[in-house]
Amino acid sequence: MAILVTGGAGYIGSHTCVELLNAGYEIIVLDNFSNSSPESLNRVKELTNKNFKTYNIDLLDKVNVEKVFLENNIESVIHFAGLKAVGESVEIPVHYYHNNITGTLILIDIMQKYNVFNIVFSSSATVYGAPKQVPISEDFSLSATNPYGRSKLIIEEILNDVYISNNNWSIALLRYFNPIGAHESGRIGENPNGIPNNLMPFITQVSIGKLQELKVFGSDYSTPDGTGVRDYIHVVDLAHGHLKALEKIMTRSGVEAYNLGTGKGYSVLEMVAAFEKASNRKIPYSIGPRRTGDIGECFADPSKAERELGWKAEKGIEEMCIDSWRWQSQNPDGFQKDKNSIAHVLV
Ligand code: NAD
Ligand code: UDP
Repeated sequence: MAILVTGGAGYIGSHTCVELLNAGYEIIVLDNFSNSSPESLNRVKELTNKNFKTYNIDLLDKVNVEKVFLENNIESVIHFAGLKAVGESVEIPVHYYHNNITGTLILIDIMQKYNVFNIVFSSSATVYGAPKQVPISEDFSLSATNPYGRSKLIIEEILNDVYISNNNWSIALLRYFNPIGAHESGRIGENPNGIPNNLMPFITQVSIGKLQELKVFGSDYSTPDGTGVRDYIHVVDLAHGHLKALEKIMTRSGVEAYNLGTGKGYSVLEMVAAFEKASNRKIPYSIGPRRTGDIGECFADPSKAERELGWKAEKGIEEMCIDSWRWQSQNPDGFQKDKNSIAHVLV
């Protein structure tokens, strides 16, 4: 019996593949490499000394997705595949809705056909919109402020309906806060295309001189230093959360949402200071205006995941910054250097 990991070559997917393999699971990866490199999977194999099948398939390609279920004995799916850039989703909403929502509809349709009813879905704290208070718990009201967030919200609602229609389904909706960091080996990490939108990859690219300075988006929020506060979580802690969610959905049916965060918020300036300490490099920055659509403060109440999944984030901000720095300094061009590398991919 195998776990199908859609989007397994991506940032969070590759780290989760390592933890799944280390825990003894058989995995199959499906990815179209639209935002990742096959090299990340070579490195997953190198880190774990284990092999697995990889399908270079687009989730929108129903015929080939079905082949994966025909050819393998799949027990559960961890569904990472999706597009995630907020700004891009505003520019090309139809593409985002089609990729994220239609891709998921095709996946769950085929899962039903092959009697596979266990799915862990990558949702996001963005489904809380502009929360009225912090910390945020799972029962807060949900809303979306951009097409990316709306695609996550719609998929959550679809999965709720799917469970209502057939109680065999067992579904975990994992609402990630802000994943950063990298595997401690420095071999896999976040590999953004072009200029990063997110804070940590922007900081790491400033640290190696690829970008000149960080622009801090606003210093007039009602936070202790006026800059935006977020709940940063180490990607390896996040990966462990998937294993715990998987264990849970394999033992009961239902649909449950879980916040995966640390419960602690850090401001932009605190992150700059923590990264400077970890890397022993100065991060030049200047204060600019607020970014449209940003909220001041966002951090999780992660107690439901601790209570029900037995999961809790273990790694602190120092480790997150040290691991981000190691990955960036050892791979200044991400997986680029190896872009011609060929993973042993099927189809
Ligand atoms: P990522 O872009 O690194 O990984 C996503 C993977 O999915 C990529 O390898 C991409 O090639 C693949 N993919 C996209 N569309 C596909 C399709 N139609 N068919 C097959 N493969 C496809 O992103 P990530 O940071 O690892 O995020 C994983 C998931 O978690 C995404 O769904 C994302 O929306 C969600 N998420 C991410 C964050 C974050 O800050 N990184 C926060 C909250 C939620
Ligand atoms: N941020 C910033 N400069 C940047 C990128 C981000 O000041 O170049 C701030 C942003 O306003 C927010 C925090 O850093 O307060 C985290 O932003 P990110 O985009 O990483 O996550 P999100 O806002 O989606 O939670």
